[in-house]
Amino acid sequence: MTLPISDQSLSLSSIAEINTLSGENVKVCMQCATCTGMCPMAQEMDFSPRKVMHFAQFGLIDKLLEINTFWKCASCHACSVKCPRGIDIAKVMEALRQQTLRKSKNHIEPSQMAKETITELPQIALVAGFRKFTS
Ligand code: SF4
Ligand code: SF4
Repeated sequence: MTLPISDQSLSLSSIAEINTLSGENVKVCMQCATCTGMCPMAQEMDFSPRKVMHFAQFGLIDKLLEINTFWKCASCHACSVKCPRGIDIAKVMEALRQQTLRKSKNHIEPSQMAKETITELPQIALVAGFRKFTS
């Protein structure tokens, strides 16, 4: 996917917000891509975890909020345990989800889910999904 960043600018406040919410420092990422290599969900993502870290380093929050990477993240922490800079990338992904959810924007709308889906899914999966995807 091409990266249309020409109309985007460095946002120091966005970098600070991501760091505050995650408790991590995205600026120390050295773009080695170990996280992407470890990620079991990378094939499902618009942009790899490495690229998301790169966007985060520049505070490209508008771009970040357009993509699906952090919604696809399974919070498995495989990336975090192998990051040579000690960044808990799963926490960064959670911070990016929170930036949407704290604006009272749900990623899924439970009321719009098909009855068949609700009937077929295990309750624990539904509850976990609602925690992750709704504000
Ligand atoms: S593994 Fe760590 S240092 Fe390497 S690209 Fe991912 S976040 Fe950056
Ligand atoms: S925590 Fe998320 S980004 Fe990291 S390896 Fe697991 S699915 Fe991929």
